[in-house]
Amino acid sequence: MDELNPPERLLLGAGPSNVHPRVVKALLSPLVGHLDPYFIEIMDETKKLLAKAFKTKNEFSLPISGTGTAAMEAAICNLVQEGDEVIIGVNGFFAQRMSEMVRRWGGKTLEIKKRWGDVTTKEEVENLFKNSNANLVALVQGETSTGALQPLQDIAKIARAYDALVLVDTVTSFTGVDLDIDGWGIDVCYSSPQKCLNAPPGASPITVGDRALNRIRNRRKPVQSLYFDFTLIERYWSERRMYHHTAPIMNVYALREALMIALEEGLDNRIAKYKRNSEALMAGVEAAGLTMNTEHQYTLPSLNAVRVPEGVDADKVKNIFLDRFNTEIGAGLGELKGQVWRVGLMGLNSSERNVLFFLEALEVSLRKEGHSLKPGVAANAAVDYYDAHQPIN
Ligand code: PLP
Repeated sequence: MDELNPPERLLLGAGPSNVHPRVVKALLSPLVGHLDPYFIEIMDETKKLLAKAFKTKNEFSLPISGTGTAAMEAAICNLVQEGDEVIIGVNGFFAQRMSEMVRRWGGKTLEIKKRWGDVTTKEEVENLFKNSNANLVALVQGETSTGALQPLQDIAKIARAYDALVLVDTVTSFTGVDLDIDGWGIDVCYSSPQKCLNAPPGASPITVGDRALNRIRNRRKPVQSLYFDFTLIERYWSERRMYHHTAPIMNVYALREALMIALEEGLDNRIAKYKRNSEALMAGVEAAGLTMNTEHQYTLPSLNAVRVPEGVDADKVKNIFLDRFNTEIGAGLGELKGQVWRVGLMGLNSSERNVLFFLEALEVSLRKEGHSLKPGVAANAAVDYYDAHQPIN
């Protein structure tokens, strides 16, 4: 067995994305105890940075120990009680998983099933509220399996009108698209550091508002999961500093650094950058005669799902990317297996260079698989798009 030596890939898949060099540096910092005064400062700073990035005053803005799925499970097991009715927009793999989790935690799901790539409408949600006792609506803002960007504002308003809570998964969209927790009235929202934040998985952002905390504090029975019980986690992350579990200290360092990088760049600048690069990619893909899995207005800029043309073996093309270009792109997941490639442009990977590189590499890989695009068409269309859409600053 040799010393660890993983390949240095360009990670343009569905996540994780490449780790930012400053985050790597943070990960190499000395470990301290999880109640060390130094770490307590880092915890407080991380909370502040998270609240800023989520655009919220919620005190309960902190990292859940674990990956995005842990944050999803934490949110659901705290919010859902036996017999609760939950409306869920089911238009992809992760929404489906949320729904399954709600059922496992004793909830009754009212699913709005859509084609994988489409989004849930406010009318569909309102219709279910009218005809049920639902007290929660759950949505995935950035559906990584389909590349769809779910609008949230109108649905959150409707939920408020029915005195229901709103839960949103922003694992792939956080700091990549607009999100305003307080302004839009979102009660609980979780994410993950391994996508737009360019940090490793392990400490997953979550924010929980007062309406949700009140409901959790007044549950008929305590949350069955001790590990994810927000009332216990809160005691460790608040002034009380009561031991609950040993925080993944290095992951918190990494998350703090990643949040600082995002906020230094400025959320608006970042969002504009993502949009420009995604639109250039779409211009290239479509000029070459390929299609996206989503309508332009609902395309998630951090995850671009390109439809695989008839007769092409999606996995073979993905493997050419890996073997020839040392680059990961995502394969289709669940219902979309074999039907799309998922191209992640996340954090520092959302760049003009990577878009042009992807389009050139796609042309070569498709030619290798016997499906020729007109040479240079895709990359030229993207270059023309960039020339016509200069960055604002
Ligand atoms: N939700 C969404 C939208 C995701 O894309 C993912 C992972 O890709 C998850 C949840 C689960 O996150 P993890 O795989 O880090 O547990």
